[in-house]
Amino acid sequence: MDEDFRCERVGCDNEAVAPCAYRDRRGRACARQWCLGHLTEIAGAPYCERHASTVTAVGFEAIARGHLPELGNRVPSLVHWVGSDLDTDVCDLLGRATDTRVGETLVTEPVTLVTGGGRTMQRRWERNWKLVSHTGISDRVTLQVHEDEPITVVVRVGQRDVVKAVPPWIQAHALGETLSADQDAAMRRGFYRAIHNAMVAAVR
Ligand SMILES: [Zn+2]
Ligand SMILES: [Zn+2]
Repeated sequence: MDEDFRCERVGCDNEAVAPCAYRDRRGRACARQWCLGHLTEIAGAPYCERHASTVTAVGFEAIARGHLPELGNRVPSLVHWVGSDLDTDVCDLLGRATDTRVGETLVTEPVTLVTGGGRTMQRRWERNWKLVSHTGISDRVTLQVHEDEPITVVVRVGQRDVVKAVPPWIQAHALGETLSADQDAAMRRGFYRAIHNAMVAAVR
């Protein structure tokens, strides 16, 4: 087969069937070619793995407005994946802290871009879980990653950082280390257990 029509995923020899449809807010296209197995269809358009998770993270509204993050920006994708992995645990924790007698309900929000606010003007991507009642927000867990520290995961309870760490499997990849599936799984378990313990200690 002609090299030009191979899937661009490392180690994949399948025939490429379509380019990734991702186009960022500056109008730059991903356009890399992928096989059927390495494309994900979202709202009728094919995306590569990274951009499928970016599109899922930012949602259809952002796509419609052409507000998609820059091509090489992995931060929304990271917040999406870590947020999905944390979701059950955070909902369980805040669910148990919910006081329904005062009308509290748990509100989970999608991944959003936050700019400004607080002491800095840095862009960061966040996911929030809030306990809300008519008197306001009584407790909140925030997952955030700043664009200028793109692999550092911050977990906040209320206004306090309770975890600030680079996920060890991402650190390993950044150092060029290859992990076995078992090592990867063990690192993830340890990372999420540490976050769980920090959140348990901080939630009222
Ligand atoms: Zn492929
Ligand atoms: Zn892509």
